Amino acid sequence: MTSSAGALRPNRLLAGLSDVAWDRVRHHLVPVHLPLRKVLYEPGVKCDNVYFPTTAIVSLQYELANGACSELAVVGNEGVVGIALILNGDTIASRAVVDRPGNACRLDAPTLKEEFCRGGAMRDWLLRYTQVLIAEMAQTAVCNRHHSVDQQMCRWLAGRLDRQHSSELIATHELIAAGLGVRRESVTAAAASLRHSGVIRYRRGHIVVLDRRALEERCCECYMAVKQESDRLLQIPARLSNAGAPKSHTYRRALPIVEYATPGPPVSTRKYSERMTAPIRG
Ligand SMILES: [Zn+2]
Repeated sequence: MTSSAGALRPNRLLAGLSDVAWDRVRHHLVPVHLPLRKVLYEPGVKCDNVYFPTTAIVSLQYELANGACSELAVVGNEGVVGIALILNGDTIASRAVVDRPGNACRLDAPTLKEEFCRGGAMRDWLLRYTQVLIAEMAQTAVCNRHHSVDQQMCRWLAGRLDRQHSSELIATHELIAAGLGVRRESVTAAAASLRHSGVIRYRRGHIVVLDRRALEERCCECYMAVKQESDRLLQIPARLSNAGAPKSHTYRRALPIVEYATPGPPVSTRKYSERMTAPIRG
């Protein structure tokens, strides 16, 4: 167990709670560190907790019986992992895997459900986030069917940059290909084009975005459609925001890390997990 005061920067949903709601919830939140490739949920397995990422990024994925996989959505400090709990589903059909190591606040299911049933700020934010998540999944489905791998890769990269403060991403070509549901060679070609144009540079599983504007210009419309819907629905009221800070990236709470989640390896031993642990070639 480790303590580090002020190391957490809780996420947008928590930052949007009223002081009364926050005081009820904060004592039940457990700050945790989520290591890379940690599996938070497996399909069909009962969820006992939800996770509010603060610096971690989590990928929601669906894997077919033959091992083929696609990313459905990505969750960062704007959302929560485990939304099925408030929908009375208890389980989810997708897998939730940590895509970028970092911190999160864990909340147990009974507390979340109790707070949701009060009908206050927590319910309002969770329902808004559910709409954002539905919009992202729908847009992803359209994107995967109609847009080029180059455009999809730019959307993939830009979406992650929105959820972190660094321009460097931890990702191999193989992992990106698995997330997009395309061949690795297609991602390698798209990455080479972006590098040739001076948009990114990459080496052994690390991608650095050098020109953010150029990256966004290469995205399909799907990136901005999801971003605008997220900003519209999850904008924190000015009375709760820090003065002078951008509303869409304002966080006002700070908690110490008191516990670390159990590190990987991922629970699954199926084909996708084998790909995730393969030697880095990208
Ligand atoms: Zn698209």
